[in-house]
Amino acid sequence: LQDKYDIVIIGAGGAGMSAAIQAKDAGKNPVILEKMPVAGGNTLKSSSGMNASETKFQKESGISDSNDKFYEETLKGGHDKNDKELLRYYVDNSASAIDWLDSMGIRLNNLTITGGMSEKRTHRPEDGSAVGEYLVHGLLKNVTELNIPIFVNADVTEIKEKDGKISGVKVDMKETKEKKEISSQAVVVATGGYGANPEMIKAEKPELDGYVTTNQEGSTGDGIKMIEKLGGQVVDMNQIQIHPTVQQDTGILIGEAVRGEGGILVSEDGTRFINELDTRDKVSAAINQLKGKAAYLVFDSGVRERVKAIDFYDKQGFVKKGETVADLAKEIGVKEDALDKTVTDWNQAVADKKDAQFERKTGMDKPLDKGPYYAIKIAPGIHYTMGGVKINAKTEVLTKDNKAIPGLYAAGEVTGGLHGTNRIGGNSVGDIIVFGRQAGDQSAQYIK
Ligand code: ADP
Repeated sequence: LQDKYDIVIIGAGGAGMSAAIQAKDAGKNPVILEKMPVAGGNTLKSSSGMNASETKFQKESGISDSNDKFYEETLKGGHDKNDKELLRYYVDNSASAIDWLDSMGIRLNNLTITGGMSEKRTHRPEDGSAVGEYLVHGLLKNVTELNIPIFVNADVTEIKEKDGKISGVKVDMKETKEKKEISSQAVVVATGGYGANPEMIKAEKPELDGYVTTNQEGSTGDGIKMIEKLGGQVVDMNQIQIHPTVQQDTGILIGEAVRGEGGILVSEDGTRFINELDTRDKVSAAINQLKGKAAYLVFDSGVRERVKAIDFYDKQGFVKKGETVADLAKEIGVKEDALDKTVTDWNQAVADKKDAQFERKTGMDKPLDKGPYYAIKIAPGIHYTMGGVKINAKTEVLTKDNKAIPGLYAAGEVTGGLHGTNRIGGNSVGDIIVFGRQAGDQSAQYIK
């Protein structure tokens, strides 16, 4: 670790690595500091995919989509509370972000849909595997090939300022116990959210006390605290997303793709109770209203083949199985005739392309008719913090009077505003790539 770099990037998730690659491509000398023993952050855990519109992969699949439609649907999902400047920049730069990844060998050409979206614009790896591992692996490969220095067990504790400009960071090297100061003209904060910081969660939203979290343990809101100390503005801090389908003993999230590819949710009575692909806030609220505050995610072998992550869930022991729907009902302790009728009615709705019961319109391309059948018991868990530091579309961090702090940039889950009061599945991966790149570009341009 040197004493001086052009740009210090805090956090080695998707946003930090994208920023680093872009800054290096612009001819600058960045360093990535990551406090955990491995790179990846919450990005590593993301399962759905990356939302983007007007992409070449959509065109190849015959999907006609538009940036305006993506904008409108995200705004609707976020209850009109999204930062419109950020959202516009996001949708307009989403297709080029897909191309950028493709140019680095990270190919997201397999399309699915998530709750609240009307088009297939969630881009996943070709083989249907979870996007996070694929993306982190691909970004790390590029970081390594570009000889970008990356340090793990490097916990940044303070961002330094001198004469109103950013001047570097203080870092604790956890293995050697060494404390260092590094000077740099610019700092990119890509430290993720605070979904694994129970005190912060409780302070912002007391009713979430005791919820399981899907977050990796490094998501403790450090970047937000460091930026607040510098006078940075925070927005939407009490907007915390609970994800409807989380395995409760482990906090492992069961990806939305299971529903996107045709899975349904049933109560302990064996009946459906909501449009499974409504937005996350609505589906979570509906599950919390059920007896036992939990539900079963039910799917067939067709869904299982289309969503590779299910093999992983199975290895963890979450997946119950029955040769027939009735067998499955017995296995999970639900009335056989009730579950049978639910699946039959659902398959009729798929055939009619009309869900008269709950008006579901997406994720109904194929019926649930291929045995064996499966179920995973789920309930809501803390997933994502929509709030965070306020940035503009150049990723400059803003003060309380909306002035940019010279040399300070932020991207990814540490920022607030883009998602309004409800994030759409697949929009976070888009966020970290689009704004991570922007932070890399802008910080590189800022350096003299
Ligand atoms: P994003 O999706 O916005 O890129 P991630 O959660 O994927 O966010 O990545 C953020 C990364 O930042 C995580 O790997 C996390 O451990 C790391 N991080 C958080 N706080 C610090 C800190 N104080 N110093 C260094 N790294 C940090």
